[in-house]
Amino acid sequence: MAEANSPIAAHRDHRRSWRDFLYVYPVVSRRSRGVSLGINLNPDQVCNFDCVYCEVDRRTPPRVRKVELPVLERELRALLDAWKSGELFRDPPFSLAPPETRRLNDLAFSGDGEPTTFGPFAEACALVARVKRETVGDAVKIVLITDAAGLDRDEVKRGLEILDANHGEVWGKLDAGTEAYYRLVNRSHVRFDRILANLENTGKKRPICIQSLFLKIRGEGPPPDEIAAYCGRLKHFIAAGCKIREVQAYTVARPTPEAWATSLSPDALEALAARIRAETVLKVVTYP
Ligand code: SF4
Repeated sequence: MAEANSPIAAHRDHRRSWRDFLYVYPVVSRRSRGVSLGINLNPDQVCNFDCVYCEVDRRTPPRVRKVELPVLERELRALLDAWKSGELFRDPPFSLAPPETRRLNDLAFSGDGEPTTFGPFAEACALVARVKRETVGDAVKIVLITDAAGLDRDEVKRGLEILDANHGEVWGKLDAGTEAYYRLVNRSHVRFDRILANLENTGKKRPICIQSLFLKIRGEGPPPDEIAAYCGRLKHFIAAGCKIREVQAYTVARPTPEAWATSLSPDALEALAARIRAETVLKVVTYP
């Protein structure tokens, strides 16, 4: 109850739902200090990763499994209207959002799974770009938040070209430097070298952001040789011509499905970020 009355409650409330909407949901993002409208292309909760820290509730059956793009478009337009009119901020938790966080920052492909697994991904990108152009214009970004596993699909590459032409950004996940740690944290059947190649090739075509979640596993943060390997991957990307806009370093913010997966302290996360900065000369922002 105390948190519900706190001005930061809106930042902490990351429920992926709004009213009875199926595919589009608002979030007040601490990352951007603005409103992000999330677009969920995976209401079926399908993901090709199984991260130890994933906050998607897969014990509750999904309300819907299929994406109907006409319904998604209706919801996106309605939510943009609610943002424009201020209706969005009438009720908690959004009524608690400070005025400076109420600007619309982005429309983000991010939901209950991996957006690049969605079949007609390019069609979804075209739809969102068109609605954005017709409603809020170019200043608002379209962000793809991805685990990078599907970035080599032709359909996804076509979608990325649409995003490139419409103020799009790719935020790709990289939580590990070695195959073994990747298997431990992300528990994916996708080969690690494919993830690395996808990030590298995508970043050669347009600047990308790297999103990395660092955590404690059974009380231990990432070991020093793992961090060295992680920095080595970033340095290899840069040497190969991949443009990295920034590294976003996170830790666990909400309860994880695995009790042994816990957050780093703010100091530990900051020390890790300082090491990445020193080794790679990249901009590293932290979200403790
Ligand atoms: S990539 Fe995202 S949705 Fe998929 S398991 Fe990891 S945290 Fe969950």
